[in-house]
Amino acid sequence: MDIDKFICCPYCASTALTKEPAHMACTTCGRHIYDNQAAAAGVVLRLPDNRVVLAKRARNPHKGKHDFPGGFVDRGENLEQAAVREIREELGLSIAQKDLRYICSGSFIYPFAGNTTYGTDAHFMADITHEEVESIRVRDDVAAVVSINPHDITREMVSYESTWRVILRIREIMKQKC
Ligand SMILES: [Zn+2]
Repeated sequence: MDIDKFICCPYCASTALTKEPAHMACTTCGRHIYDNQAAAAGVVLRLPDNRVVLAKRARNPHKGKHDFPGGFVDRGENLEQAAVREIREELGLSIAQKDLRYICSGSFIYPFAGNTTYGTDAHFMADITHEEVESIRVRDDVAAVVSINPHDITREMVSYESTWRVILRIREIMKQKC
């Protein structure tokens, strides 16, 4: 929400504000606004040969870089619902909530249209078939997808540090299973 940039109270327009990092209080109407982290969910779609699906970003921030398909949690959703919805919206794929396995979470900064959103993302893993990958039709903010071995992904290819941490984590997970 970037409340550091607010110049007046969004409820009563008073400029009598007290500001702390991620917290603002209006001394006129008494309201408090907390700039809490926005929740996001991403999914590592894993093929039987251990390759994973990376999505190339069609828009800024980080246009042209890769991350895992996913996005912000809508109001009223839980993380799994958001993950399933984003996979459907971005790739046209249906996955089930029960097939999502939690991997790890991270923190990221998302600058967009002059605003800065501070986010926390949770990543899940879900197994898919080669046929399902073939059926992917990208849309929304995904330009293309690539199926790639996690060990062949470089830091330069990916957008966020939180995405890179997921890749390091799934390399560990795959090592444990060998
Ligand atoms: Zn106010």
